[in-house]
Amino acid sequence: LLRIFCEPRVDEIMILPPTYGMYKVSAGISDVAIKEVSLTADFQPDVEAILAAVTSNTKLLFLCSPNNPTANDFDRSVIIELVQKFPGIVVVDEAYIDFTNQQSLVADLGQYENLVVMQTFSKAWGLAGIRLGMAFASEEIIHYFNKVKPPYNVNQLSQNAALAAMDKKEKQELEVAIILSERAKLIQALEDLDLVERVFPTSANFILIRVNDALSLYNQLVEKKIIVRNRSNVHLCEGGLRISVGRPEENDRLIQVLNQFSHAENLIPG
Ligand SMILES: *Cc1c(COP(=O)(O)O)cnc(C)c1O
Repeated sequence: LLRIFCEPRVDEIMILPPTYGMYKVSAGISDVAIKEVSLTADFQPDVEAILAAVTSNTKLLFLCSPNNPTANDFDRSVIIELVQKFPGIVVVDEAYIDFTNQQSLVADLGQYENLVVMQTFSKAWGLAGIRLGMAFASEEIIHYFNKVKPPYNVNQLSQNAALAAMDKKEKQELEVAIILSERAKLIQALEDLDLVERVFPTSANFILIRVNDALSLYNQLVEKKIIVRNRSNVHLCEGGLRISVGRPEENDRLIQVLNQFSHAENLIPG
C-alpha cells in the first residue's frame, strides 16, 4: 500500500496512537512520513481531529479494529464516516476480527472504492510463522498490488500450510471458541483482583488492564516465568499491561499467581 500510494519523502500516512507499531516501521522502511492523531480517551478515532489534520499529501489512513493494544472495536459508524470523508485510502486492519462480534468490513467493499481490509493468518489461524496476510479491496486496487509485488509468489510451504488450515476450518473455529471462553474466564478473575484497577473491554485475543505499578507487576510476573506486555509507557495506556489469552492451564497459572500477589499485598500493614 505504501509503495502504491505514497511518494517517499513527499507523502505521509496517518495513524491513530495508541496502535500497532508496524505501521510506523513499514512507513519508515519506505521513507514515508507518518502523521499521528491520538485516539480519544475511550480509544475511538477522533473524526474531527483526523479530518482537520489531513493534507493533500495524506494518502493512507490506518484504522486497526479491534485495536492493538487497546483491544476495543472502533464504532462501525465512525469507521464508515471516515471511509466516506477521508480523501485517500482507508485501510482497516482486521487482524483480530475473529475475536469480535463486530462484522468485518469486507462485506462493505462493494460500496467504497477507497477501502482496503487487511487480515492475517497470524492470529486466529495460529500460523504467524508462515508470514501470510490478506488484503481485500476493489479490483482496481488489487491490480496495483500485482504491479508492485515481486514476480515471485507466496512461497509454496506457506501456501500449503494455509490451504491445509482452511481445509480444517472447524479446528480454527474450535480454537477461537476456546480462546473466547478463556477470555471470559480471565476477565472475571481479573475483575475480582484488588491489584487490578481496570479491565478494559476487549474484542481481541488479549486483555488490557490498568494497575498501580505496571513495571513492578510485570517484573514479578517475569520472575514467575509469565510474560505479559508492559504497555505502561504507551500513550493513553498508562499503567497498562497487555495480557494475551493463553492456553487454559497458562491462564489458570496466571490467575493463581496474581491471587498470591494480591494476598501478599493485603498482608502489608496499613
Ligand atoms: C499481529 C498483527 C498483524 C499481523 O501481523 P503479521 O504476523 O505480520 O501478519 C497486523 N495487525 C495487527 C494489529 C496485529 O496485531
